[in-house]
Amino acid sequence: MMADFCGTRYAIATSSGTTALHLALLSLGIGCGDEVIVPSLTFIATANAVSYTGARPVFVDSETETWNLDPDLIEQSITPQTKAIIPVHLYGHPCNLDPILEIANRYNLSVIEDAAEAQGALYKGKIVGGIGDLGTFSFYGNKIITTGEGGIVVTNRSDLAEKVRILRDHGMSSQKRYWHPVLGYNYRMTNIQAALGVAQMERVDGIIAAKKRIAQAYTTGLQNVAGIQLPPEADWANSVFWLYSILIDDQAFEMDRDRLMEVLKSKNIETRPLFPPLHLQPIYNQGEVLPIAEKLSKQGLSLPSAISMSNSDIQRTIEAIIGK
Ligand SMILES: *Cc1c(COP(=O)(O)O)cnc(C)c1O
Repeated sequence: MMADFCGTRYAIATSSGTTALHLALLSLGIGCGDEVIVPSLTFIATANAVSYTGARPVFVDSETETWNLDPDLIEQSITPQTKAIIPVHLYGHPCNLDPILEIANRYNLSVIEDAAEAQGALYKGKIVGGIGDLGTFSFYGNKIITTGEGGIVVTNRSDLAEKVRILRDHGMSSQKRYWHPVLGYNYRMTNIQAALGVAQMERVDGIIAAKKRIAQAYTTGLQNVAGIQLPPEADWANSVFWLYSILIDDQAFEMDRDRLMEVLKSKNIETRPLFPPLHLQPIYNQGEVLPIAEKLSKQGLSLPSAISMSNSDIQRTIEAIIGK
């Protein structure tokens, strides 16, 4: 179902989005001594999967237009050790993939799309996840569809699909049972989770439509509020608005992001800050400065975006923000 959904030849289910990323990297032969370019502004699993292989994640800043990996900053981070780029379609908005694919092609790098937050999003009319060499998705409880925990790797390449399948299942040979030519893992999805996933896939279009309905309602209510910047939607993009996220300019809004989160919390409205950039995380901090990611992370918050939200829930959130 996911192969059909993404328009790819293969889809291999895994135990999580993180293990899907790990297997995608291993299938490309990435390991010690290699470098992989990742955005700094993402969930930490994107970079951790690189670290698990022994390779080093190299952090690149975001672009203002999409909040995603800035294609103009990639080349300066490429070294002879660079093997791959992982564009992340953050908060449901696709990355500007064409220039990323062009650079990857020119330097002979692989591209793994981390589509964990963007199932169903379109880049120039094409579904994300199915565009790079491999794409990965997460089916964690807060993602577009869920199997509790779960994930999947999609690809058009039979060689990579076969490697992912073998590495997922203890590295066991597809020819000879209990014979293990490579060091593998148990990263399989259980059949119980898969059954949940099938039922979720039957309603995925409705789930995505609900995310877009919520986004439209927030946009209508918040578009003329001084100091609030709405989430990106580039004219070549079709976002699924996984989490509807806004930026707060503390001067113009006359309140900063953290204070707004407290005010909303006091009215029983739960929000989330944008991810802290990975180059500032304790396990990765080497004193780098990536100003756009840092600014977005400082100013951004995600509003309640559950598909069960009623119009009046959304209106109450909008009024609480405006009335702060
Ligand atoms: C959720 C997420 C992951 C990890 O998925 P899990 O299923 O939680 O392992 C990876 N990358 C991004 C961008 C995510 O949002």
